[in-house]
Amino acid sequence: MNKYVYSFGKGKAEGDKDMKYLLGGKGANLAEMTNLEIPVPAGFTISTEVCRYYYNNGKKYPTELKEQKETALKQLEETTGKKFGDAKNPLLVSVRSGAAASMPGMMDTILNLGLNEKVVEGMVEKTGNARFVWDSYRRFIQMYCNVVENMEHEKLEHVINTVKAKKGITQDTEMTATDWQEVVKGYKELYKLEKGRDFPEDPQDQLNGAIDAVFGSWNNPRACIYRQLNKIDETKIFGTAVNVQSMVFGNMGDDSGTGVAFTRNPSTGEKKSYGEYLMNAQGEDVVAGIRTPKKLETLKEDNEVAYNELIAIFDRLEGHYKDMQDVEFTIENGKLFILQTRNAKRTAPAMVKVAVDLVAEGMIDEKTALTRVEADKLDQLLHPTLDPKAKTNFKVIAKGLPASPGAANGQVVFNAETAVEWVENGKKVILVRAETSPEDIAGMNAASGILTARGGMTSHAAVVARGMGRCCVAGCEMISVDEKNKEFRIGDQSIKEGEIITLDGSTGEVFLGQVPTMEATLSGDFETLMKWADKTRKLEVRTNADTPKDARVAREFGAQGIGLCRTEHMFFEEDKIFAIRQMIISDTVEQREAALAKIFPMQKNDFKQLFEIMKGLPVKIRLLDPPLHEFVPHEDKDIKALAEEMGISFEKLKEKVESLHEANPMMGHRGCRLGVTFPEINQMQVKAIMSAACELKKEQNAEIVPEIMIPLVADVEELKWLKAKLIPVIEETMKSYGVTLKYEIGTMIEIPRAAVTADEIGAEAEFFSFGTNDLTQMTYGFSRDDAGKFIKDYMREKILLEDPFKSVDQKGVGKLMEMAVKLGRAGNPKLNIGICGEQGGDPATVKFCHNIGLNYVSCSPYRVPIARLAAAQAVVEESKK
Ligand code: ADP
Ligand code: MG
Ligand code: MG
Repeated sequence: MNKYVYSFGKGKAEGDKDMKYLLGGKGANLAEMTNLEIPVPAGFTISTEVCRYYYNNGKKYPTELKEQKETALKQLEETTGKKFGDAKNPLLVSVRSGAAASMPGMMDTILNLGLNEKVVEGMVEKTGNARFVWDSYRRFIQMYCNVVENMEHEKLEHVINTVKAKKGITQDTEMTATDWQEVVKGYKELYKLEKGRDFPEDPQDQLNGAIDAVFGSWNNPRACIYRQLNKIDETKIFGTAVNVQSMVFGNMGDDSGTGVAFTRNPSTGEKKSYGEYLMNAQGEDVVAGIRTPKKLETLKEDNEVAYNELIAIFDRLEGHYKDMQDVEFTIENGKLFILQTRNAKRTAPAMVKVAVDLVAEGMIDEKTALTRVEADKLDQLLHPTLDPKAKTNFKVIAKGLPASPGAANGQVVFNAETAVEWVENGKKVILVRAETSPEDIAGMNAASGILTARGGMTSHAAVVARGMGRCCVAGCEMISVDEKNKEFRIGDQSIKEGEIITLDGSTGEVFLGQVPTMEATLSGDFETLMKWADKTRKLEVRTNADTPKDARVAREFGAQGIGLCRTEHMFFEEDKIFAIRQMIISDTVEQREAALAKIFPMQKNDFKQLFEIMKGLPVKIRLLDPPLHEFVPHEDKDIKALAEEMGISFEKLKEKVESLHEANPMMGHRGCRLGVTFPEINQMQVKAIMSAACELKKEQNAEIVPEIMIPLVADVEELKWLKAKLIPVIEETMKSYGVTLKYEIGTMIEIPRAAVTADEIGAEAEFFSFGTNDLTQMTYGFSRDDAGKFIKDYMREKILLEDPFKSVDQKGVGKLMEMAVKLGRAGNPKLNIGICGEQGGDPATVKFCHNIGLNYVSCSPYRVPIARLAAAQAVVEESKK
């Protein structure tokens, strides 16, 4: 026979804390606390299995349930010495939801169940406290109407307000027993009017109605959205349990009360309990904002014994769960009861502090501490953030994707040049664009934040902003950007150039006005945690850096080298772009070589700078990757200006620009394909790389191991062909300096064909780097520049649980990666393998990379600490399996 119901009470429980999946977090912890002999009102838990059965069988219950429920209820009556529905000595219960994943406040609870006219009468007689009894009854009806019958909260509220108005009362606390009695009468009339029947008097009917409603609340819109936002996978965690628990009353008078508390401060992590409570109150009164709750410390004055007992229980709970707890408690006539405990939710700074403190307190070891911090949340520690208190005073005018975290405010500008100009004049700006392109780099860099109307989490704006650690809200589709008239609109509101807005890159919110920010601080605890992570992890963590500034930041954050330097970003700098364009529009090899000769010293200097910052660490440089049309202007007026500058005719330049047009540039003439057509470009690049390294060797005796990375290889023959063109240049360069250096040539794996033939390619390469942006694009067939438009629909409909451009799709793309690792190492056992796609800083991806045996991950500078922690967590999790 299946067991569906688990009892707890009198120091003994059938469940325990490890039965979360079956009993829900609340049920499992109520059982655990009962076993610890912490004062918990007795009760029983109907398992999540019943919830699954309920949804799988057209809202029916397993047949055995009825009897098991009756037995548990009988047992509960014996434990409490009270009887359900008995007028003289009634058992009242709460019916509470609780899933395996904590979803605070998302599902429903009903208190004081078991009351009816007869029981009320008996209870008044027994307690001599008519006000308390009628208050409890009205609360019960209110919750029942709301939760079970879906009646509108306003209508119920109206009943109370009518009574209050009649009596000239404003506060609940002023209501007398007869006032509440009148409210009960009003509720029942409303119920009859709406439902066409009387409010249920039979406690059994009430209980069944409440159980249905709690199971039903699993699918209420609030809960569904919560699960979606928190990525709770319903295929793994499905259903809520129902906890039926005998009531204790915080509303019995002034020696009773109810409260919630954290065993430490949840926003700072400080080791000092933090909480709020109300005397003569019940349930959610504390959070409902009807009365202003009191600070936990003052409970010492209200009831010192209960206070001391509570603090002692906090210590016991922490000692037992070995983590900071979030506790709900009630005091009934001076006696303390605990109604819930769970590991407390907390901010990133609190996560770090609590984890480090618990190690110092000897409660957990370093490895466990590493698992206590959500790697993703470290972002909060690395960027300035909005002051949460100040935030509430400002109006949110729009919401987009939280593309790059942090906070920024400034004056709105609509193009990159204005951004640069204004910043040079000492202003702070937010660059607002329909979408950004590589030409906007300088403006993006100058701006404090970036707001775009189109594009997803891997759009140009998002990727570049994250790389720069610049705050960015992308894909904010509710705004329309009018670059010509220098304004953007939301409905009929228009924001003009120069007006101040604030972006919250962690939530995607856009505010009108300047919301105050708080600076990020790298606390000592954070460093300590990072040291533990470095001791533990096996993966090396590198960074994607194109500029000296990025490289410096990344080194500061602990990057062990550069895993991807995109040379093309260097090309957009003012002094270079002209020569680049000359090179692109060249008609002959001679012309092109002349232009390249101009670029060469600039490239060499760029590399030299980067090598110098990264001294002692490896630097991986990718040869030119994007299609050439990205480097030329497209509008007639810009083409005209450039033609003039270059001394050629507008028509000729226009023709050239048009000839570069491709129907599908992402799958067009780019990457190593450019190298095949114009080998002299790549030859210039490797010459610049090697010259930079040789010069540093000669000047400073610095050991540099340049790693030359060839993008977009699909066929080993491409690699062989290019190597044959590049190696002689490399050797020649070293010879000209009289220096020999170790260098490596490897390839990106970003085309499915490359992954599938990785044994052949591996035999020709010293390293692989998974370019998972392109690999995802080509495996899914989702254009990374357009997918933002529909991926959100896919996520809403749960076709996708996660954006594959944010976190590697382990089933599909990941399978190709795994295959490429195996094949590649078969072709070359010494092959060094890493990842440099945007996903390289995503904790789940980092763990996956560890599991399939990569040597390193490379991510944007601000994600380096996240990757370091995730890599360590991968090791800890592996050892637990
Ligand atoms: P949530 O999951 O939304 O926190 P709970 O099931 O914890 O909902 O119930 C909310 C509140 O109701 C509790 O914090 C507690 O104050 C009160 N409550 C629940 N069960 C009981 C009970 N048996 N006796 C007294 N109060 C209760
Ligand atoms: Mg609760
Ligand atoms: Mg690529």
